Amino acid sequence: MAGVLSDQFKRMNLQTKTVGGDRIKKAKERNEDVAILSMELPGEKTGFKCSLGADCLLGDPAGLPLGTKKMEYKTRQWHEKCFCCCVCKVPIGTQSFIPREQEIYCAKCYEDKYATRCIKCNKVITSGGVTYKNEPWHRECFTCTHCQKSLAGERFTSRDEKPYCADCFGELFAKRCFACNRPITGIGGTKFISFEDRHWHNDCFFCATCRTSLVGRGFITDQEDIICPECAKQKLI
Ligand SMILES: [Zn+2]
Ligand SMILES: [Zn+2]
Ligand SMILES: [Zn+2]
Ligand SMILES: [Zn+2]
Ligand SMILES: [Zn+2]
Ligand SMILES: [Zn+2]
Repeated sequence: MAGVLSDQFKRMNLQTKTVGGDRIKKAKERNEDVAILSMELPGEKTGFKCSLGADCLLGDPAGLPLGTKKMEYKTRQWHEKCFCCCVCKVPIGTQSFIPREQEIYCAKCYEDKYATRCIKCNKVITSGGVTYKNEPWHRECFTCTHCQKSLAGERFTSRDEKPYCADCFGELFAKRCFACNRPITGIGGTKFISFEDRHWHNDCFFCATCRTSLVGRGFITDQEDIICPECAKQKLI
């Protein structure tokens, strides 16, 4: 059956702040998930060290020339320009970013690399989604194999690993009533009679001659027909 995907990736919003000391202190104390952009005030000595180290784009991880902004995230610091996506190297600026282990990703590169993709259309599933046979689907991509209607939240049955809505499954695979030729779905506890390899809805199981119901009664087969014992006797006379 369909379930709800629990492992959704979360988009993080970057907040850039230039308010300095107090705000940074608070964010650190609360271990907030925000990156803070600030500028060192003249005379302030914070022991800055760009997290890119030898890869620092300014060439000097310890240097913070006057007027250069720095980005802080959790316990680490970067030059504003050095705070960039580890894949595409584009500075995050005011875009969203997603931290993973020690790396910083832009939303797009993160999606390309880690996001859940729909098994049908191969596009990223950003919210909702269902799992079927342990594979993720968009709700709108998880459809009946036959009529293509969405099955998310619907009752469905699978056959040969493929999902079908209840209606199509009935139409395609269920036993058919010998009298009316409509499917006997069994869904909702449909009552039916089986005899040898023929099946009838309860309501369709009646004597071919006098039309009385034969449910729970003895009956005689007369080639294609089923008839009640009384009519059978009449026929023999
Ligand atoms: Zn740097
Ligand atoms: Zn990127
Ligand atoms: Zn899809
Ligand atoms: Zn269907
Ligand atoms: Zn019938
Ligand atoms: Zn009869």
